[in-house]
Amino acid sequence: MIVYLNGEFLPVESAKISVLDRGFIFGDGVYEVLPVYNGHLFRLAEHLQRLENSLQAIRLANPLSRQQWSDLLTQLVAHNHGGDQSIYLQVTRGPAKREHNFPHLIQPTVFMMSEAIQAQPPSPGVKAITCPDIRWQRCDIKAVALLANVLLRQQAVDVGAVEAILIRDGYVMEGAASNVFVVIDGITMTPPKSRYILPGITRDLILEVMQANQLPYQEVAITEAQLRSAVEIWVTSSVREILPITTLDEQTVGSGKPGPIWSQVWQLYQNYKQQLRSH
Ligand code: PMP
Repeated sequence: MIVYLNGEFLPVESAKISVLDRGFIFGDGVYEVLPVYNGHLFRLAEHLQRLENSLQAIRLANPLSRQQWSDLLTQLVAHNHGGDQSIYLQVTRGPAKREHNFPHLIQPTVFMMSEAIQAQPPSPGVKAITCPDIRWQRCDIKAVALLANVLLRQQAVDVGAVEAILIRDGYVMEGAASNVFVVIDGITMTPPKSRYILPGITRDLILEVMQANQLPYQEVAITEAQLRSAVEIWVTSSVREILPITTLDEQTVGSGKPGPIWSQVWQLYQNYKQQLRSH
């Protein structure tokens, strides 16, 4: 695997950073994950905009221009032989003496890697659990400090579930690493953007595709009780696309099979990806 680190492309085994890096010491950095389909960077402008927002939120100047990001990402994809990939990139504040406040004049650390991914067949439906949202109050920043998300996801995996759906003050927020959609009375709903959720690129694309196809949806607060009464629940992310949840906390969701709206939206999403492939 060829990775990018601070200006160089090199094998992953040779990529080394300082143990004083503030990403390592404090989790002081932000990241993005973006898919590549048939060698094309998927929703690049949206991912670079979200990266810019995350960097601004942690008061770290973007070390690269949009054109530089785009060029480096394109080179990374080529180094890893095109096709379908998942790119991980992160920017940390860089190495410095350990002190909480920002150090002066340090170079941020820029790291990117990519791995091959395989197109997934439609899911037969998977399990999720609910958990209290124990995270902080800036979940809109795509911060590398993911300890709460790690613990929450592991809690799900420990009971054979694929995701933890997080509840804050009685309302559904998002998954440990995904956004959440529910279908109630034929209307698809997803929580509105706020400081308590990550503005998912997949979430936005689903809404865009639904709007283009006159499928009704609402961006609206969803209570825990509504979640439990939903006939369809989906979790969405760049990596997992749109996964239908058919068991929630050991209770069957709807018919116990992926629902008809999921099926329709999943197909529309695949069509959107397909258009890119044929370019
Ligand atoms: N919420 C959280 C907490 C996430 O980690 C992710 C995955 N990065 C998402 C939502 C989904 O975002 P996206 O669709 O941009 O992958």
